[in-house]
Amino acid sequence: MSSDLQFGVAAGSTTEPPRIIAPLPQLLFSARSRRFAALAEGHVLGDWLRFLGRLTQAQHEALSAQENLPLPDATALDRARNHGMPPLPAQHWPRAAAWRTALSHMLGFLNTADVPQAVQHSCDRLAVASVAQLETLADRVLRTEYFGEDVELLPFVAAALQIYWTALAAALGSAGKKDIPTLDVPGVCPCCGALPVASVVRSTAEASNLRYLHCSLCNTEWNLVRVKCAACDGTGKIAYQCVAGSNLQNAAAMRAETCDECKSYLKILYLEQAPDGDPVADDLATLGLDMLVDAAGYSRAGPNLLFVPGSG
Ligand SMILES: [Zn+2]
Ligand SMILES: [Zn+2]
Repeated sequence: MSSDLQFGVAAGSTTEPPRIIAPLPQLLFSARSRRFAALAEGHVLGDWLRFLGRLTQAQHEALSAQENLPLPDATALDRARNHGMPPLPAQHWPRAAAWRTALSHMLGFLNTADVPQAVQHSCDRLAVASVAQLETLADRVLRTEYFGEDVELLPFVAAALQIYWTALAAALGSAGKKDIPTLDVPGVCPCCGALPVASVVRSTAEASNLRYLHCSLCNTEWNLVRVKCAACDGTGKIAYQCVAGSNLQNAAAMRAETCDECKSYLKILYLEQAPDGDPVADDLATLGLDMLVDAAGYSRAGPNLLFVPGSG
């Protein structure tokens, strides 16, 4: 299945390409899970990618079990639009207990899977953690503070927060994309304010050859013109790197877009070359590319919340 089917492109309303592509919750995580499983075959990090496939499938199951969530009311949406602020801000939105329900569903699904002992240990600790401990871990994820004590728990907490924010973004996106403003800062998600995990060059009729940034938290995509730095807006010193001579099946489809003005980079996935590609899964299957551009002095412009940097 093409990744383009994972997203709710507004059907046939105008010839304008969509500015925002909301996530389709029924398809997104299950397609990502299949992509992780496919990328795991013959990969040096195959066991880890296969586990992430199971984690992502658990996200799918837990998302399917989510109840209807409260969304911002008309006043809050107006305020967000008038101030050019994201309507579901990651760090300030009063998150409901539903994200913790999603976590416990997800851990339940993982529990029945054959998972490594270290993963089982993390799941057991999260299962007995207090509400206050879980909320503190969630705050660390949403500030992208991936260091310090209990850092190995953060990808699981992040996975649960992704379920919750994806459900919110999908509901808001299907209610009307006009509620999602255009921000002054093009490099952050207009729905939740989080940073992008990667960009995607789409190949559908509606969005042919257009580049979208893909949110690391809520899985919303937003349009940004090609050959432009997501971190500093610069256009003058952009270059593209890929791992030469690699036999990874996604190596040619996933490149690093580097910017010499701010010395940052973000990966870019060309779906024409990998129709089943997924920005989160293909990102983690190309950590060698990160090592290459890190060594050349560039810093990554957005996180992959399922990965603790330095642990790969
Ligand atoms: Zn977002
Ligand atoms: Zn830049």
